[in-house]
Amino acid sequence: MTSTNAAVKHASPGARRTRFLDAGDVAGLVRGIGVRQAIVAVADCVCEDFLRWADFEKSARLASHSPVGVIELMPVSDGHHFAFKYVNGHPRNARLALPTVMACGMLAEVRTGFPLLLADLTLATALRTAATSALAAQAMARGGAHTMALIGNGAQAEFQALAFHAMAGITTIHAFDIDPAATARLMHNLADVPGLAIVPARSVREALAGADIVTTVTADKTRATILTPDMVRPGMHLNAVGGDCPGKTELHVDILRQARIVVEYAPQSRIEGEIQQWPEAPVSELWEVLAGRAPGRASADEVTVFDSVGFALEDYAALRWLHAAAQAHHAGRDVELVAMPPDPRDLYGWMIGSPAEAVVQVEAAPT
Ligand code: NAD
Repeated sequence: MTSTNAAVKHASPGARRTRFLDAGDVAGLVRGIGVRQAIVAVADCVCEDFLRWADFEKSARLASHSPVGVIELMPVSDGHHFAFKYVNGHPRNARLALPTVMACGMLAEVRTGFPLLLADLTLATALRTAATSALAAQAMARGGAHTMALIGNGAQAEFQALAFHAMAGITTIHAFDIDPAATARLMHNLADVPGLAIVPARSVREALAGADIVTTVTADKTRATILTPDMVRPGMHLNAVGGDCPGKTELHVDILRQARIVVEYAPQSRIEGEIQQWPEAPVSELWEVLAGRAPGRASADEVTVFDSVGFALEDYAALRWLHAAAQAHHAGRDVELVAMPPDPRDLYGWMIGSPAEAVVQVEAAPT
């Protein structure tokens, strides 16, 4: 039996194209711009978009859980552009030589639904997470903070370190990971950053000594207590990034009960954040703090917690930054991602009329 599968590769003249950025394109773009500059630029976009919070149609992300991880879809729209991210979180992936977090996403125009950009968002996720953390710290940490404990030295760690160095005055990082090789890699990767010292610590407690800010960015699918109340000193700012799923937390609940808590989007954070442990926790949303409608910190002695889980609006900001940067620096390529028949209602005729060389010859199936 023989079958012919007409997989069409021809493009209609004058048809619109989607900009496509694979992981290498995004890496080249970020290297060319500079990681620090990219984080600051993404932070500007995140801040701008959080400050027009009311413009966005928002929802908690759709999560599909399994015993080993989660796969999530994160949509958001402001009526002009629609964005979504596909992202996973599989803490045991390193054993399979795969990243814990992998992501891709799309920016589309609402007017027509046309997809403007399809891109790897693994790197952009690290940029926007670090940028958002640093933005929150600008509004929540005590003035004069210069030392940060960084607990969890995996894929996100360098970006967190660079964001706090660039945006929050951090010059010394006390780094701790249960895997000493992760700390060694972090130190190696950031060895040449002027004005930033990375000091390895042998325990969480040692890392916290003298720290003004504590970032927890560990990956474990469990109710972990990376920080306990006895470790936390008055005035500390905690940037809790790694607890981002039901049953996956990093802070002892009693830390939350004593702290001022800021989240990205409360309906999602109550399901996924540290505050899943304390459902009635009083919280402010980051947009309120950035807009000056809620304090990030009320006194020098207060403990503040940014309970980060990652919200679709951060990815919207990262996507629009990526789209503009790709156009400005000619990164990636334009592809016919969606069919563009010259007569938009003649999808069939467009398929049949494809050039002979674009038709894939399919081998006869064995009988
Ligand atoms: P990763 O797997 O690359 O790194 C995690 C690191 O944490 C590893 O080096 C591991 O050894 C270390 N670790 C695990 N348990 C620890 C413990 N008890 N004490 C100290 N270190 C420990 O993962 P990643 O990509 O760096 O992501 C880290 C976490 O951040 C994940 O849980 C991920 O889901 C989360 N994340 C959150 C956001 C957000 O927006 N909030 C965005 C991206 C990633």
